[in-house]
Amino acid sequence: MAIKICNRCLYPETKPDLEFDENGVCSACLAYDKRAGINWDERGQEFLELIEEYRRDDDDNYDCVIPVSGGKDSTCQVIRMLQAGMNPLCVVATTDSLSSLGRKNIENIKSLGVDMVEYSLNPKVRRVMNRIGLEQIGDISWPEHVAIFTVPIRVAVQFNIKLVVWGENSQNEYGGPAASQDSKVLNRQWLEEFGGLLGLRVTDLIGQQGIKPKDLIPYTYPSNEELERVGVSGVFLGYYFPWDGMGNAILAQSYGFQVLPTLVEGSLANYENLDNHQTGIHDYFKYLKYGFGRATDIANNHIRRGRLSRSDALNLVKRHDGIYPATCLGKPLSEILEEIEMTQEKFDEICDRFTNKKVFRTTSSGEFIRDSENRLVKRT
Ligand SMILES: [Zn+2]
Repeated sequence: MAIKICNRCLYPETKPDLEFDENGVCSACLAYDKRAGINWDERGQEFLELIEEYRRDDDDNYDCVIPVSGGKDSTCQVIRMLQAGMNPLCVVATTDSLSSLGRKNIENIKSLGVDMVEYSLNPKVRRVMNRIGLEQIGDISWPEHVAIFTVPIRVAVQFNIKLVVWGENSQNEYGGPAASQDSKVLNRQWLEEFGGLLGLRVTDLIGQQGIKPKDLIPYTYPSNEELERVGVSGVFLGYYFPWDGMGNAILAQSYGFQVLPTLVEGSLANYENLDNHQTGIHDYFKYLKYGFGRATDIANNHIRRGRLSRSDALNLVKRHDGIYPATCLGKPLSEILEEIEMTQEKFDEICDRFTNKKVFRTTSSGEFIRDSENRLVKRT
């Protein structure tokens, strides 16, 4: 049976947590529609009142933590907080395989005039975790997605800073259960349910390939006791301001953020996912599992905002989604795999294991069919 696709955007029903209404419109599109009914002036005011509660008048500590990657969104988070006169401590949980452009953009955030903690995670442990993530749940970026949520909260606890300012609520932009979409706070429950951890818990790693509990300290969310002692509270800026990746990229660029001269492989943008050579592998596995990639995410954001017609988007997505990640941000796959001590044969075997047979065609003997460009062929 054909895979159902949203009538308005290009999300397929295979996307986790996506729901469709009686008109065949997906929950990501419906969440976007709701934005028109939101009084953004009121929300902006609400935000200003909120941050006043956290602004310190003793100049003795930072007003807030901003988790940053160096990307367009985190650059905007910093700009917004500086505009509001806040004194933030920016926290980077260093990415798996940082690109030179990613490094430049982190330095650019510092140059906006902020203090920054760059929390470097033990690369030996990280590589093992990348490999386990890829082998067991088909997600090389699993440790990164844990660390970007846990490290800033740990730093907030350590520095006694109450407010943590996150960017978008991914459940709102990309579709998810109603309760998760409307959330303005990010806490342990949101992270465990919607943070994209795919059912693998940090504690599951203990004892695997030599991983010890002490290796997992930065990947562990602080205890409720510690959170309550400091009074840590995490908010989504996307709840208070209408979030738009492309708009953020324009704003960020005027403050020194740099983009690629060409589109990122397998994507429709040159302004996001610029910092980590492993992200192309992460996005490719999403395509293998669910039949859509980063190009679809970006195209859908443009469709909803009237910047791209659905039929043009469909053509673009066919050209860009699902390209085998022979290079990621210009780095050859073999070199990226070398960093995690994995051969390409092993990688291809893992790819096949996670490829969705309901989405992609196989021969009578069960082998996946590929076209002349080494791309999987979808069932029609
Ligand atoms: Zn949709």
